[in-house]
Amino acid sequence: MALILLAEDDEGIRVPLSRALEREGYEVDAVATGTDAIVTGVDGEHDLLILDIGLPGVDGLEVCQRVREGRPAVPIVFLTAQDGEMDAVGGLDAGADDYITKPFGLAELLARVRSQLRRTTAEQFQGADVKVDVASRRAWRGERELELSPKEFDLLALLVREAGRVVTRERIMAEVWDENWFGSTKTLDVHIGWLRRKLGDDPGEPRYIHTVRGVGFRFSGAQP
Ligand code: CA
Repeated sequence: MALILLAEDDEGIRVPLSRALEREGYEVDAVATGTDAIVTGVDGEHDLLILDIGLPGVDGLEVCQRVREGRPAVPIVFLTAQDGEMDAVGGLDAGADDYITKPFGLAELLARVRSQLRRTTAEQFQGADVKVDVASRRAWRGERELELSPKEFDLLALLVREAGRVVTRERIMAEVWDENWFGSTKTLDVHIGWLRRKLGDDPGEPRYIHTVRGVGFRFSGAQP
């Protein structure tokens, strides 16, 4: 069963949340400070981290960065206060896979945890000469490993999983960003641009990511 590291200084959240996770069958390491989270998380074998941002001492963002240095693939869900903490740090660019704003319902958090853990179960996909390994969250073009941000990886994994088929912008926004997303898809185009650059793809004559105007994107299915 999955092992989860929970870092939350508010006992009124930490204790019931630990219990709920354990009831779901997870093993839980619960800590109350950022320092303990780093000590436990850096060398830990956790399958997922739940980090409060407002931790005493070292905050959740720094914990995230420190743990990700050694374990770039471990899924991280942030717990944020309502005061726009995520805005202050530029959304999920800090390396989180997901976040949930307090106060949150247990059912919703458990759903996020399940979804993150599901994404990391052993799955491999290929499109053209690009290979994606969901379990280790690694991707390669030919023999060369790609250095991707968490969002870039999710985007590439979705496109490659559906290689040869069009994936609509709406579906990408829902699966890679937020199921409750409404509004601009500009961030999607920005990420597509970054991915293309990392793949060495030419938007004018794409080898990998094809734009299907007004619909979405299609990753090349053909083998090289
Ligand atoms: Ca806190």
